[in-house]
Amino acid sequence: MDSVQNFPDKIIDFHVHLFPDKLFDAIWKYFASTYGFNILHEIHYQECIDYLTKQGVEYIVYSNYAHKKGIAKDLNKWNLKVLDEYPGLYCFAAYHPDDDDALAMARDLLDHPRILGFKLQLLVQMFYPDDERLFPLYEMIMEKGKRLLLHVGNGPVGNSYVGIENFRRLLERYPDLPANVAHMGAMEYGAFTELLDRFPGIFLDTTWAFLPRSGLMFDQKVEVLENHKERILYGSDFPNLIYPREEEINCLKGFYLSNDFYQRVFRDNGLQLLGK
Ligand SMILES: [Zn+2]
Repeated sequence: MDSVQNFPDKIIDFHVHLFPDKLFDAIWKYFASTYGFNILHEIHYQECIDYLTKQGVEYIVYSNYAHKKGIAKDLNKWNLKVLDEYPGLYCFAAYHPDDDDALAMARDLLDHPRILGFKLQLLVQMFYPDDERLFPLYEMIMEKGKRLLLHVGNGPVGNSYVGIENFRRLLERYPDLPANVAHMGAMEYGAFTELLDRFPGIFLDTTWAFLPRSGLMFDQKVEVLENHKERILYGSDFPNLIYPREEEINCLKGFYLSNDFYQRVFRDNGLQLLGK
Protein backbone atom coordinates (compact mmCIF):
# COMPACT_ATOMS: atom_id res chain seq x y z
CA MET A 1 0.00 0.00 0.00
CA ASP A 2 1.54 3.30 -0.96
CA SER A 3 -1.04 5.71 0.26
CA VAL A 4 -3.77 5.95 2.82
CA GLN A 5 -7.05 5.05 1.23
CA ASN A 6 -10.22 6.72 2.36
CA PHE A 7 -8.50 9.48 4.31
CA PRO A 8 -11.46 11.71 5.17
CA ASP A 9 -11.93 14.70 2.82
CA LYS A 10 -13.28 16.79 5.64
CA ILE A 11 -11.56 16.56 9.00
CA ILE A 12 -12.16 17.81 12.53
CA ASP A 13 -9.35 19.73 14.25
CA PHE A 14 -9.98 19.35 17.98
CA HIS A 15 -7.13 21.57 19.19
CA VAL A 16 -6.81 25.04 17.68
CA HIS A 17 -5.98 28.23 19.56
CA LEU A 18 -7.81 31.49 19.04
CA PHE A 19 -7.20 34.56 21.16
CA PRO A 20 -8.16 38.22 20.81
CA ASP A 21 -5.71 39.88 18.40
CA LYS A 22 -3.68 41.82 20.98
CA LEU A 23 -3.32 38.84 23.28
CA PHE A 24 -2.24 36.66 20.34
CA ASP A 25 0.47 39.22 19.51
CA ALA A 26 1.68 39.14 23.12
CA ILE A 27 1.70 35.31 23.21
CA TRP A 28 3.76 35.08 20.01
CA LYS A 29 6.22 37.60 21.40
CA TYR A 30 6.49 35.54 24.59
CA PHE A 31 7.06 32.31 22.62
CA ALA A 32 9.84 33.98 20.65
CA SER A 33 11.60 35.48 23.67
CA THR A 34 11.13 32.54 26.07
CA TYR A 35 11.38 29.48 23.86
CA GLY A 36 12.91 30.91 20.67
CA PHE A 37 9.77 29.75 18.84
CA ASN A 38 9.02 31.74 15.74
CA ILE A 39 5.43 30.94 15.02
CA LEU A 40 4.87 30.09 11.34
CA HIS A 41 1.47 31.67 10.94
CA GLU A 42 1.10 34.84 12.93
CA ILE A 43 -2.46 35.31 11.79
CA HIS A 44 -5.43 36.44 13.81
CA TYR A 45 -8.62 34.53 14.48
CA GLN A 46 -10.60 35.27 11.33
CA GLU A 47 -7.65 34.41 9.10
CA CYS A 48 -7.00 31.25 11.12
CA ILE A 49 -10.56 30.08 10.60
CA ASP A 50 -10.44 30.90 6.86
CA TYR A 51 -7.10 29.15 6.48
CA LEU A 52 -8.16 25.93 8.20
CA THR A 53 -11.49 25.86 6.41
CA LYS A 54 -9.67 26.08 3.06
CA GLN A 55 -7.46 23.17 4.19
CA GLY A 56 -10.51 20.93 4.58
CA VAL A 57 -11.19 21.34 8.29
CA GLU A 58 -14.96 21.08 8.60
CA TYR A 59 -15.23 21.70 12.33
CA ILE A 60 -12.74 23.69 14.39
CA VAL A 61 -12.60 23.24 18.16
CA TYR A 62 -10.55 26.03 19.64
CA SER A 63 -9.54 27.05 23.11
CA ASN A 64 -7.92 29.78 25.10
CA TYR A 65 -6.91 29.96 28.74
CA ALA A 66 -6.52 32.49 31.49
CA HIS A 67 -2.80 32.72 32.27
CA LYS A 68 -3.62 34.78 35.34
CA LYS A 69 -6.50 35.69 37.62
CA GLY A 70 -8.96 38.29 36.36
CA ILE A 71 -8.87 37.78 32.60
CA ALA A 72 -11.17 34.79 32.04
CA LYS A 73 -14.31 36.92 32.05
CA ASP A 74 -13.22 39.15 29.16
CA LEU A 75 -11.79 36.22 27.24
CA ASN A 76 -15.10 34.43 27.54
CA LYS A 77 -17.03 37.51 26.42
CA TRP A 78 -14.83 37.42 23.36
CA ASN A 79 -15.45 33.68 22.96
CA LEU A 80 -19.20 34.20 22.94
CA LYS A 81 -18.83 36.90 20.29
CA VAL A 82 -16.66 34.65 18.10
CA LEU A 83 -19.07 31.72 18.48
CA ASP A 84 -21.89 34.01 17.33
CA GLU A 85 -19.83 35.11 14.36
CA TYR A 86 -18.99 31.52 13.31
CA PRO A 87 -21.89 29.07 13.76
CA GLY A 88 -19.69 26.04 12.94
CA LEU A 89 -17.13 26.76 15.64
CA TYR A 90 -16.73 25.01 19.04
CA CYS A 91 -14.83 26.21 22.07
CA PHE A 92 -13.13 25.13 25.28
CA ALA A 93 -13.48 28.33 27.29
CA ALA A 94 -11.17 29.99 29.82
CA TYR A 95 -11.34 29.45 33.58
CA HIS A 96 -9.41 30.59 36.60
CA PRO A 97 -10.47 29.25 40.02
CA ASP A 98 -9.46 32.44 41.86
CA ASP A 99 -11.85 34.70 39.97
CA ASP A 100 -14.70 36.04 42.09
CA ASP A 101 -17.68 34.57 40.30
CA ALA A 102 -15.77 31.78 38.53
CA LEU A 103 -18.31 29.04 39.09
CA ALA A 104 -21.33 31.16 38.23
CA MET A 105 -19.62 32.18 35.00
CA ALA A 106 -18.80 28.55 34.27
CA ARG A 107 -22.38 27.47 34.83
CA ASP A 108 -23.69 30.03 32.33
CA LEU A 109 -21.07 29.22 29.73
CA LEU A 110 -21.71 25.49 29.91
CA ASP A 111 -25.29 26.11 28.84
CA HIS A 112 -23.99 27.25 25.47
CA PRO A 113 -24.32 24.29 23.07
CA ARG A 114 -20.98 25.03 21.38
CA ILE A 115 -18.95 25.54 24.54
CA LEU A 116 -17.70 22.01 25.10
CA GLY A 117 -16.13 22.78 28.47
CA PHE A 118 -12.96 24.43 29.73
CA LYS A 119 -9.29 24.45 28.89
CA LEU A 120 -6.85 24.27 31.77
CA GLN A 121 -3.21 24.92 30.92
CA LEU A 122 -1.66 23.71 34.15
CA LEU A 123 1.93 24.43 33.14
CA VAL A 124 1.10 28.11 32.60
CA GLN A 125 -1.73 28.56 35.09
CA MET A 126 0.40 26.89 37.75
CA PHE A 127 -1.97 24.81 39.78
CA TYR A 128 -2.17 21.06 40.26
CA PRO A 129 -4.87 19.17 38.38
CA ASP A 130 -6.12 17.80 41.70
CA ASP A 131 -6.17 21.22 43.37
CA GLU A 132 -9.35 21.18 45.42
CA ARG A 133 -10.28 24.64 44.12
CA LEU A 134 -11.07 22.86 40.85
CA PHE A 135 -13.30 20.11 42.28
CA PRO A 136 -16.55 22.08 41.99
CA LEU A 137 -15.73 22.83 38.35
CA TYR A 138 -15.03 19.17 37.59
CA GLU A 139 -18.24 18.11 39.26
CA MET A 140 -20.25 20.69 37.33
CA ILE A 141 -18.68 19.56 34.05
CA MET A 142 -19.58 15.93 34.73
CA GLU A 143 -23.08 16.83 35.82
CA LYS A 144 -23.66 18.80 32.60
CA GLY A 145 -22.11 16.21 30.29
CA LYS A 146 -19.27 18.52 29.20
CA ARG A 147 -15.48 18.03 28.93
CA LEU A 148 -12.09 19.42 29.82
CA LEU A 149 -9.10 20.06 27.62
CA LEU A 150 -6.00 19.71 29.76
CA HIS A 151 -2.39 20.55 29.15
CA VAL A 152 -1.08 18.29 31.88
CA GLY A 153 2.02 16.66 30.36
CA ASN A 154 5.62 17.66 30.99
CA GLY A 155 6.59 18.26 27.34
CA PRO A 156 8.08 20.27 25.77
CA VAL A 157 8.83 21.79 29.18
CA GLY A 158 7.56 20.83 32.59
CA ASN A 159 7.19 22.09 36.14
CA SER A 160 5.85 20.57 39.34
CA TYR A 161 2.20 21.12 38.30
CA VAL A 162 2.23 18.80 35.30
CA GLY A 163 3.17 15.17 34.69
CA ILE A 164 1.55 11.78 35.03
CA GLU A 165 1.70 11.52 38.83
CA ASN A 166 -0.42 14.62 39.33
CA PHE A 167 -2.90 13.49 36.73
CA ARG A 168 -3.17 9.97 38.20
CA ARG A 169 -4.10 11.49 41.55
CA LEU A 170 -6.91 13.39 39.89
CA LEU A 171 -8.20 10.27 38.15
CA GLU A 172 -8.15 8.28 41.36
CA ARG A 173 -10.59 10.83 42.72
CA TYR A 174 -12.65 11.20 39.53
CA PRO A 175 -12.21 8.00 37.48
CA ASP A 176 -14.94 9.03 35.03
CA LEU A 177 -13.56 12.49 34.36
CA PRO A 178 -14.23 13.46 30.74
CA ALA A 179 -10.97 15.05 29.60
CA ASN A 180 -8.89 15.44 26.47
CA VAL A 181 -5.18 15.37 27.19
CA ALA A 182 -3.17 17.58 24.85
CA HIS A 183 -0.03 16.37 23.07
CA MET A 184 -0.82 12.66 23.79
CA GLY A 185 0.59 13.41 27.27
CA ALA A 186 4.09 14.27 26.00
CA MET A 187 6.67 13.33 27.17
CA GLU A 188 5.23 10.45 29.24
CA TYR A 189 3.57 8.82 26.26
CA GLY A 190 3.52 5.25 27.55
CA ALA A 191 2.00 6.15 30.91
CA PHE A 192 -0.67 8.42 29.44
CA THR A 193 -1.62 5.87 26.80
CA GLU A 194 -2.07 3.23 29.49
CA LEU A 195 -4.64 5.45 31.20
CA LEU A 196 -6.97 4.86 28.25
CA ASP A 197 -7.49 1.25 29.33
CA ARG A 198 -8.58 2.23 32.83
CA PHE A 199 -10.35 5.55 32.54
CA PRO A 200 -13.22 5.68 30.04
CA GLY A 201 -13.52 9.47 29.78
CA ILE A 202 -9.98 10.17 28.64
CA PHE A 203 -9.01 11.00 25.07
CA LEU A 204 -5.53 11.99 23.86
CA ASP A 205 -5.03 14.62 21.19
CA THR A 206 -2.21 14.45 18.66
CA THR A 207 -0.93 18.05 18.82
CA TRP A 208 2.86 18.32 18.49
CA ALA A 209 3.36 14.58 19.15
CA PHE A 210 3.78 13.68 15.48
CA LEU A 211 6.06 16.45 14.28
CA PRO A 212 9.29 14.55 13.59
CA ARG A 213 11.47 17.65 13.89
CA SER A 214 9.95 18.90 17.14
CA GLY A 215 12.01 16.80 19.56
CA LEU A 216 8.85 15.50 21.21
CA MET A 217 7.98 12.76 18.77
CA PHE A 218 5.67 10.03 20.09
CA ASP A 219 7.94 7.21 21.25
CA GLN A 220 5.60 4.24 21.58
CA LYS A 221 4.98 1.50 19.00
CA VAL A 222 2.50 2.48 16.29
CA GLU A 223 0.35 -0.54 17.23
CA VAL A 224 -0.50 1.39 20.38
CA LEU A 225 -2.16 3.99 18.17
CA GLU A 226 -4.16 1.41 16.26
CA ASN A 227 -5.23 -0.27 19.50
CA HIS A 228 -6.48 3.01 20.94
CA LYS A 229 -7.91 4.53 17.78
CA GLU A 230 -11.27 5.11 19.43
CA ARG A 231 -9.70 7.43 21.98
CA ILE A 232 -7.34 9.58 19.92
CA LEU A 233 -8.30 12.91 18.41
CA TYR A 234 -6.52 14.84 15.71
CA GLY A 235 -5.48 18.31 16.82
CA SER A 236 -2.96 20.70 15.29
CA ASP A 237 -2.35 23.51 17.83
CA PHE A 238 -2.73 25.84 14.86
CA PRO A 239 -1.61 28.60 14.54
CA ASN A 240 0.92 28.08 17.35
CA LEU A 241 3.25 25.94 15.26
CA ILE A 242 6.84 26.26 14.19
CA TYR A 243 6.51 23.44 11.64
CA PRO A 244 3.78 23.19 9.00
CA ARG A 245 0.62 21.44 10.20
CA GLU A 246 0.87 19.11 7.18
CA GLU A 247 3.95 17.49 8.73
CA GLU A 248 1.87 16.05 11.53
CA ILE A 249 -0.78 14.74 9.13
CA ASN A 250 1.85 13.26 6.81
CA CYS A 251 3.68 11.67 9.71
CA LEU A 252 0.50 9.91 10.82
CA LYS A 253 -0.32 8.90 7.25
CA GLY A 254 3.19 7.48 6.96
CA PHE A 255 2.45 4.88 9.64
CA TYR A 256 0.06 3.17 7.19
CA LEU A 257 -2.44 2.32 9.89
CA SER A 258 -5.90 1.02 9.04
CA ASN A 259 -8.39 3.12 7.12
CA ASP A 260 -10.53 2.90 10.22
CA PHE A 261 -7.78 4.57 12.25
CA TYR A 262 -7.71 7.62 9.98
CA GLN A 263 -11.47 7.79 9.73
CA ARG A 264 -11.86 7.74 13.51
CA VAL A 265 -8.95 9.95 14.56
CA PHE A 266 -9.42 12.65 11.93
CA ARG A 267 -13.20 12.63 11.90
CA ASP A 268 -15.50 10.18 13.66
CA ASN A 269 -14.13 10.52 17.21
CA GLY A 270 -14.41 14.28 16.88
CA LEU A 271 -17.96 14.08 15.58
CA GLN A 272 -18.85 11.78 18.45
CA LEU A 273 -17.61 14.28 21.04
CA LEU A 274 -19.43 17.08 19.24
CA GLY A 275 -22.62 15.02 19.51
CA LYS A 276 -23.01 14.76 15.70
ZN1 LIG B 1 -2.46 23.94 22.55
